[in-house]
Amino acid sequence: MTSTSTAAFPSLEAALKHFFGYDQFRLQQRAAIEAVLNQQDALVVMPTGGGKSLCYQLPALLRLGVTIVVSPLIALMQDQVEALNNNGIAATFLNSSLDLMEARSREYDLLQGRTKLLYVAPERLLSENFWPFLTRLQQQVGLAGFAIDEAHCVSEWGHDFRPEYRQLHRLRSAFAGIPMLALTATATERVRQDIVQQLQLQKPEVLVASFNRPNLYYEVRPKDRQTYGHLLQQVQSINGAGIIYCLSRKRVDEIALRLQNDGIAALPYHAGLPDLTRAENQRRFIRDDVRVMVATIAFGMGINKPDVRFVVHYDLPRTLESYYQESGRAGRDGEPAHCTVYFGYADVSTVNYLIDQKPDEREQNIARQQLRQVIDYAESTVCRRQIQLGYFGEFLSESCDRCDNCRFPKPKQDWTIEAQKFLSCVARCRERFGMTHIIDVLRGSGKKRIRDLQHDQLSTYGIGKDRTAEEWKILGRSLLHQGLLEETVDGFPVLKLNAASWQVLRKQLTVEVAMPEGLQGVATGTTSATEDGLLARLKALRKRLADAQGVPPYVVFTETTLRQMAQRLPQSLDAFARISGVGSRKLEQYGQTFVEEITAFCGEQGITATATPPPPLQTGDTHAITRQLYQQGHSPDQIAELRDLRRSTIIRHLSDLIEADDGVELDDLVSPERQQTIWAALEEVGGDRLGEIRDRLGDGYSYDEIRLVRGYYHRAKLES
Ligand code: ADP
Ligand code: ZN
Repeated sequence: MTSTSTAAFPSLEAALKHFFGYDQFRLQQRAAIEAVLNQQDALVVMPTGGGKSLCYQLPALLRLGVTIVVSPLIALMQDQVEALNNNGIAATFLNSSLDLMEARSREYDLLQGRTKLLYVAPERLLSENFWPFLTRLQQQVGLAGFAIDEAHCVSEWGHDFRPEYRQLHRLRSAFAGIPMLALTATATERVRQDIVQQLQLQKPEVLVASFNRPNLYYEVRPKDRQTYGHLLQQVQSINGAGIIYCLSRKRVDEIALRLQNDGIAALPYHAGLPDLTRAENQRRFIRDDVRVMVATIAFGMGINKPDVRFVVHYDLPRTLESYYQESGRAGRDGEPAHCTVYFGYADVSTVNYLIDQKPDEREQNIARQQLRQVIDYAESTVCRRQIQLGYFGEFLSESCDRCDNCRFPKPKQDWTIEAQKFLSCVARCRERFGMTHIIDVLRGSGKKRIRDLQHDQLSTYGIGKDRTAEEWKILGRSLLHQGLLEETVDGFPVLKLNAASWQVLRKQLTVEVAMPEGLQGVATGTTSATEDGLLARLKALRKRLADAQGVPPYVVFTETTLRQMAQRLPQSLDAFARISGVGSRKLEQYGQTFVEEITAFCGEQGITATATPPPPLQTGDTHAITRQLYQQGHSPDQIAELRDLRRSTIIRHLSDLIEADDGVELDDLVSPERQQTIWAALEEVGGDRLGEIRDRLGDGYSYDEIRLVRGYYHRAKLES
């Protein structure tokens, strides 16, 4: 009958490395695995991404017999089985998506003892005609244990109650003595108790991991007319997959369309789409064919894509618990990821209105309280992580430094001096201009209009170069909000000073501003340009291999693993085997191909040493990365593809670099003859009106070319 075969490995760690390529267990994983190996029942509560699957997968491989995994969703099963197969592990699933022949052949393999893990949906497991098969399996091969995934589905108090789950206790009487492991990401005590009771777990080992997700950055941003622009900027600046949640189907369609028009590979997902379309969109997201999923909350449960880099709530989340779960779909692989809520009071009224429509008063009250909690979260100035964990009864003693409130504590920085600069610039411009112009003057812009107005002669010209335009804009808006400045409202917003403005200028008032995160660039981790260049190539290679096998890219290697390759540059199979995430099977299957790619890259870059990573060249700076790739001989199109950015963004970088005389040659990009023609048009029309220049030059000239030449034109004008 069942016994363990750990003897084949000197330690559990050795088995972990062999099958999964990891060196260490995460907190609670080892305890859970030991419980299962000791034939004990256990309940594992871990947040999404905590590594629950391993708790039953590794014991399954170390014991004789088959481990039965109950999983509620077909898509989820398929993904898990693919990932296991890719690690060389014999796993399979039985569900309604298979035809009879296929199902029979899988059953046959199981009865031959060829399969270690069997995934089934609860309906099937409990159906009359499955029972005899299960009994035969037990007699012929042995059952090592049951793993009940998403175990909160047994509880009406959980967020995904499934009545079939209630029947699972029948396994208890029919297969007494076979250990049962329940797993969930739902944190509340109430649900935990329910699981233990409903599944009739016997003296279970209860293992609760912390719900803190240290790799997630939490922030709340104001929702206003600029919100879409900010969203777009965020999506462009983060390299990787993301989910944008909206409340209504209409909003989903609208945002998806706008993003598509702005060159972002985005798709919609909501209950109003035909099933086929939905499944196809989800598949394309998981396979990295599209980068962004715009979705209602219908999208999520069952998405175990580990490398989601951002989750945005464009509209207010319903409850704090649902926010935790939805935002928790980011960064399951443990790499940095970003969670943003856009918060505006208009949404609050919408939600309040919806609550008023509810027929039941008790329901209304609960919903109101939940709304209140969400608003408190959004408005709060204390650590956002502390609020979330507190909600689950977990106490975080220190603030986290990975949320906007910790990074940019309020009350805020003293911006009095900047405010004086800003207001005095408004005064020098005789209170006749808007925000953009004032900022241009402060930052010493070379725009023609500024010279025409002789505003480059003002004493405030160029005194604000040390701050970005975005920072000045935030300051300006904050001054308006605080009543320290006014703006005309007749459609041509012109900034005007008021009595309070003069108090600031006379140093009678100080000014404090909260600078939100995001302006500083939403950098997710710092990497060198070389590393980024290689990472992009390894991702492309991974995508090709995954497509050839028809599996999602992360099944080949996770992002964490690719990142480590890009850092360590393994150029031999030995070195490659030491990368976390490279197990014996993957070494055999992919080692050679990846080592070749890395070696080729190192050759091109002139990197010789195998073990030592190259010194970081430029960190973070997006322009520097573009420059680097350009200097490696990539065309703008290639750079755009490597960086997963729009071509127009790359052109803007190149144009800025040309303007700053920073390593980019215009002659490489636009032929001298064409430069001359464009230059002449720029001289006539000025640099501000690209549309007019384009009209003048005709269709034979592109905006991109004009922008590049304009970079050079600006530099020449500044220098002259
Ligand atoms: P959950 O089911 O709890 O949401 P998963 O089981 O999908 O989480 O695991 C999340 C990610 O963490 C996966 O990419 C998995 O390969 C990885 N992982 C799990 N355990 C470890 C470990 N001990 N070391 C490194 N990575 C791990
Ligand atoms: Zn914090």
